[in-house]
Amino acid sequence: MTTAAAGPTEVEVAIIGAGMAGTTLATLLGNAGRKVALIDPHRVHHDEFRAEKIGADQMQLFEKLGLDKMVMPLVTPFTDIDVFRLGQFFAREKKWEYAFSYGRLINGLRDALPQVPITVGKVAEVSTGPDRQRLVLADGAVIDARLLVVATGHSESVRRTIGVERIELSKAHSLSMGFDLAIAPRDCAFGAITCYGKRASDRVAYLTVFPIGDKMRANMFVYRTVAEQWTRDFRADPQKMLRELMPEIAAQCGNFEVASPVEVRQVNLTTTQGHRRDGVVFIGDAFSTTCPTPGVGIGRVMIDVDQLHSVHIPRWLETPGMAADKIGAFYDDPVKVASDKAGMRVSFYAKQITTETGLEWRVRRLRNNTARQLMIIGRKMRHLGPRREPGMA
Ligand SMILES: Cc1cc2nc3c(=O)[nH]c(=O)nc-3n(C[C@H](O)[C@H](O)[C@H](O)COP(=O)(O)OP(=O)(O)OC[C@H]3O[C@@H](n4cnc5c(N)ncnc54)[C@H](O)[C@@H]3O)c2cc1C
Repeated sequence: MTTAAAGPTEVEVAIIGAGMAGTTLATLLGNAGRKVALIDPHRVHHDEFRAEKIGADQMQLFEKLGLDKMVMPLVTPFTDIDVFRLGQFFAREKKWEYAFSYGRLINGLRDALPQVPITVGKVAEVSTGPDRQRLVLADGAVIDARLLVVATGHSESVRRTIGVERIELSKAHSLSMGFDLAIAPRDCAFGAITCYGKRASDRVAYLTVFPIGDKMRANMFVYRTVAEQWTRDFRADPQKMLRELMPEIAAQCGNFEVASPVEVRQVNLTTTQGHRRDGVVFIGDAFSTTCPTPGVGIGRVMIDVDQLHSVHIPRWLETPGMAADKIGAFYDDPVKVASDKAGMRVSFYAKQITTETGLEWRVRRLRNNTARQLMIIGRKMRHLGPRREPGMA
């Protein structure tokens, strides 16, 4: 850890925030032989409800970056996802997904950091400029860097110190709820289950049930607010509410016996304003937050990390200075721009297609549901006779 008495620590890149964005960027820069400081108020990331699974696309990003060997031992892979729509079995998807506890994943990545010690401390002062950036920590330690990366997630203190504003594009956009089911993975006849909401008035996007280690975990995404009676009722008796909402999967899910408190997080869709500045770049959730429902957050974070590490930071460090116009190349990067736009677009679309009651959206839902109903009927006719439910012997 840096101490005030040791004098300023000189690095090429100082990263504030050792979450998914900060830790993976520090790993890649460290592997490339860069001198990096990674600062976080906590050495051990606490176990909070955040992303708990990624799909094959996101795992491919880790593979591309050579991080999959670090990630794979920290995740539970599974396939055979039984999808229920319109109150019926719809399809068994043979695709790989990877589940994890966020805190454990981040701590595993931190433990594997190459030659980049985590500086445990709070940033008290930040000064940025076209050449050098200076951080003063609460204990008086000083870190000088050519480039400052802000990867502080939802936290506002560093953004405020620098004078950068968060813009809310959709406040209280959705709620994410996470809880353990009492049933054990070995007693489940499926790899995972995804069950979509049936009525617009339910405001339920979907429930996903999947294994993390020796537990069955559930994530449910709904378009409601924390203060609503519905949310209070769900917290008080999730089993009763789930049995009413999704009776079609109750038997497979151990009758929805819940084995932990329900964790509830409100999600706002946000972006950043006033970030084009000398010396500093904002990445991951510190730059923009999307909705967990379409599951694009980790992919967006890793695209920021990939583009910065493989394209921009090497170029920036090659030439003198670190002025705003140089850093602007990252915010204008077509790959990053497309990823942020797509994340925001699917976040809005997922809510509209679930909850909107205007004619256009009712027609879209009718069209989608008719196509799905025809697929269900077609499958039943192909199998002629009573359908064997997934998992039935
Ligand atoms: C409930 C929920 C469910 C989600 N589910 C999914 C999902 O299923 N799939 C998906 O892809 N995405 C999901 N996401 C999104 C995903 O979790 C985030 O996009 C991703 O974790 C953001 O990573 P990050 O590194 O930008 O921020 P974080 O991981 O939040 O890291 C921020 C770091 O900054 C540190 N920090 C904060 N303040 C300071 C400070 N002042 N000084 C120094 N350090 C500081 C924190 O300690 C932390 O370590 C979900 C999000 C939520 C909230």
